[in-house]
Amino acid sequence: RHLKPVAAAVAQSYPTTHEKIAKVENTPYFLNNQFVQSKTDKYIDLPDPATNNLVTRVPQMTDAEMEAAVESAELAFKSWKNTTVLHRQQIMFRFVQLIKDNMDRLAASITLEQGKTFADAKGDVLRGLQVAEAAVGAPELLKGEVLEVAKDMETRSYREPLGVVAAICPFNFPAMIPLWCIPIATITGNTLILKPSERDPGAAMILSELVQQAGFPDGVVNVIHGAHRTVDFILDAPAIKAISFVGGNKAGEYIFSRGSANGKRVQANLGAKNHAAVLPDANKNHFINSVVGAAFGAAGQRCMALSTLVMVGETKEWLPEIAERARALQVNGGFEEGADLGPVISKQSLERIEHLISTAEKEGATILLDGRGQAPAKYPDGNWIGPTIITNVTPEMTCYKEEIFGPVLVCLNVETIDDAIELINNNEYGNGTAIFTRSGSTAETFRRNIEAGQIGINVPIPVPLPMFSFTGNKKSIAGGGASTFYGRPGINFYTQLKTVTALWQSADAVAKKASVHMPTLQ
Ligand code: NAD
Repeated sequence: RHLKPVAAAVAQSYPTTHEKIAKVENTPYFLNNQFVQSKTDKYIDLPDPATNNLVTRVPQMTDAEMEAAVESAELAFKSWKNTTVLHRQQIMFRFVQLIKDNMDRLAASITLEQGKTFADAKGDVLRGLQVAEAAVGAPELLKGEVLEVAKDMETRSYREPLGVVAAICPFNFPAMIPLWCIPIATITGNTLILKPSERDPGAAMILSELVQQAGFPDGVVNVIHGAHRTVDFILDAPAIKAISFVGGNKAGEYIFSRGSANGKRVQANLGAKNHAAVLPDANKNHFINSVVGAAFGAAGQRCMALSTLVMVGETKEWLPEIAERARALQVNGGFEEGADLGPVISKQSLERIEHLISTAEKEGATILLDGRGQAPAKYPDGNWIGPTIITNVTPEMTCYKEEIFGPVLVCLNVETIDDAIELINNNEYGNGTAIFTRSGSTAETFRRNIEAGQIGINVPIPVPLPMFSFTGNKKSIAGGGASTFYGRPGINFYTQLKTVTALWQSADAVAKKASVHMPTLQ
């Protein structure tokens, strides 16, 4: 019942049960392809969200240790940047295979530390794996351009690595988000300092082991731990040229402004409040399955969760059936057979979600389905909340304005598709949205007029595959969305464009007088 330990140096083994761990080990950091125990005296306890039993302690690393990680990445960059992209591609092929071979270990660590079900955790790994798979196409994406700009002159462009880059990750996708960064940052010739979420770094530690096995040279990927202090260290380290951040608005807006003020490139994907609009002509059964899966899957802790339902016209009459299907979902420990949703990440998160539900009650909404207090008998001490549906919500209510990040679906009624578009566009977030309709022209009107990064047409969670890019909008992405993760924009983020103009022979080579004028076109 226990999967193999990550490596001798990673003392942590990943059980496939929620049983109490007899001997709790501290999470090591990863430096020069070695797992190292921090010398700090400050640790962050990491409890299993299903039981609140201690799983590991995550170090708040010392400044000296974090500096050593940056120095190692700087040193590694000197030779890594001079490797050919074909060499890096071979390492990436091995990394891809190793992720596939270790899918179950990665998923088990996610279920244990993050809480999502084992089946869903495999999806977390898969969506990251796909970014690594797409990254092997980098030789094509790194090609520059060349143009003969005059009869004796040509201009070429090159994409060169930036140097040491850093990634700061959230808790909700412990494998996928590190894998949005590791493959693209490294295949483009950068070296990477990765800071996983202090709430679930286990998957990143297994990925570190795979980095080593795949043949990445020492220091190309280093993993450091900690919370705000570690983030501040990254923001201020002069050697770090770029930062990739995924997480909430409070941290992300701070990181974007302080990182940018320090002259770094920053890409930052932030919070969300994703709306689904449903039209009376939609396929009702497909819609109900879609919204229930997308609102409550992963206990609503996906940045692309459909947390807000905009019911156009008589679709409000479908609410009892939505509630019935949501009620049938099984809330249980993520390793349990048949579990549909696991616990939320922490006691604090549970309290915040319950508080937001109580504000809805006070502000006049109806709790159609109440998941509060729904602990499975086997796990009384976890952070449990079942599917919750709040109806008769209006845009002024707190539960509408704030990102809940739990298994809570907030429902509003409108009369027309235009009302739905206006409502959605008035919301300050713009990560993703979906429309359910059989009408091509209604879908097209929605697509043209909606202000959101990812749009699903009869698709509940339209996260783009890695040959595209993850495109947020409005408050869901910092810097107006100028830089997005993976795909061609991801390659662009991690590379510096260099443009070279060369003159190989010229009539001027024999002229006796220098020209002082700007050249004119011939
Ligand atoms: P978070 O912002 O609390 O934490 C993210 C990272 O920032 C962590 O590594 C954490 O250590 C650090 N951090 C947290 N608070 C900080 C602070 N005040 N100063 C400096 N660093 C800080 O996010 P989370 O709770 O781990 O993740 C959930 C959030 O992430 C949700 O808002 C969700 O919508 C968002 N998210 C967005 C996307 C996207 O692509 N738009 C994807 C996944 C998650």
